[in-house]
Amino acid sequence: MNIAVKRVTKSFGTFVALNDVSLDVPSGALLALLGPSGSGKTTLLRIIAGLETADSGSVFYADEDVTGAAVRDRNVGFVFQHYALFRHLSVYENVAFGLRVRARSADVDRRVRELLRLVQLDGLARALPSELSGGQRQRVALARALAAEPKVLLLDEPFGALDAKVRQELRQWLRRLHDELHVTSVFVTHDQEEAFEVADRVVIMNHGHIEQEGTPEEIFERPANPFVIDFLGNVNVLHGHVQNGRARLGQLEVAYPDYPHAESRAATAFVRSHELEIVRTRNGRPAIEAKVTHVNPARPVVKVRVYSEAFGIVLSVDVGWERYAELRLTVGDTVWVSPRQLRVFVQDRAVVDVPGLGA
Ligand code: ADP
Ligand code: MG
Repeated sequence: MNIAVKRVTKSFGTFVALNDVSLDVPSGALLALLGPSGSGKTTLLRIIAGLETADSGSVFYADEDVTGAAVRDRNVGFVFQHYALFRHLSVYENVAFGLRVRARSADVDRRVRELLRLVQLDGLARALPSELSGGQRQRVALARALAAEPKVLLLDEPFGALDAKVRQELRQWLRRLHDELHVTSVFVTHDQEEAFEVADRVVIMNHGHIEQEGTPEEIFERPANPFVIDFLGNVNVLHGHVQNGRARLGQLEVAYPDYPHAESRAATAFVRSHELEIVRTRNGRPAIEAKVTHVNPARPVVKVRVYSEAFGIVLSVDVGWERYAELRLTVGDTVWVSPRQLRVFVQDRAVVDVPGLGA
């Protein structure tokens, strides 16, 4: 069942938490709402759930307008960051709780066992929540959310309180579970890695509106604006200007046919760490002179930081291990840093890729 959010606005006092937000969640999709803290993700999720009322706009479940419908009539499953399980009830009873009023006890038993198998906790049916790890508790919470066969599953930072390794495991596990169940799901996170790994579609939110929506690949390959590029991280920012079909960013000068005008305008260029290349001597390509300040031989790539005096900034460069061995980089070395791709953004204009710098 697909969900459509149409032109939803929500204020708390004078603060606008959601500003004219529209969104489609395709049937069976796992969609991530991704954005910084305070961008409106939870508010949007709560409006989809019916836990919060919008000031204006509407929410549809398939063709049904549920804008005014109560939570209990929407058949939604929830998992929150701190989903308080009943502490005095076993894992089994926690999952069975919501089913008891609705089904015969033989059916309840069958369903609970099926769910515990699904979340791989069948061996822990009699355990109390206090005997479980954080990751196991969230799996119980998920089993409980799925017990009533919800049409929609809503998750708000479900792994936010867990440590990095457990988060990583649960992400992959959630992805597999979703592939099995295909329940239309909306997943809130502020962790871009998590969103990109888990979701079919990612919605980037900022200050109560949507900056971009698409598949993880679309967003990574074609970020719509500086906010998105910056939020995705691992990016270097260069300031300069455009004029007469050229972009000048300090020492770098590249063709920029999109702006043929004589009037100079401020521009910002973004280049990701893996799109920068380090060379020992200039080879005719646009390059920035810089000094190596730090080398971190991490996996899977070596993280190098260089300082450009001309820009007055530190650039981050990802160098492959083979290339690193060739270069024999040492802190203090003077090198040239050359972008393979730049995304140039002129104020009030769209982002334009400048590929093929390695001509
Ligand atoms: P996110 O989940 O992206 O961190 P939220 O949707 O929780 O963001 O909140 C967006 C903004 O709305 C925040 O600045 C928050 O302070 C404000 N807000 C959320 N809920 C309430 C509320 N019940 N009363 C007042 N302000 C709220
Ligand atoms: Mg939130």
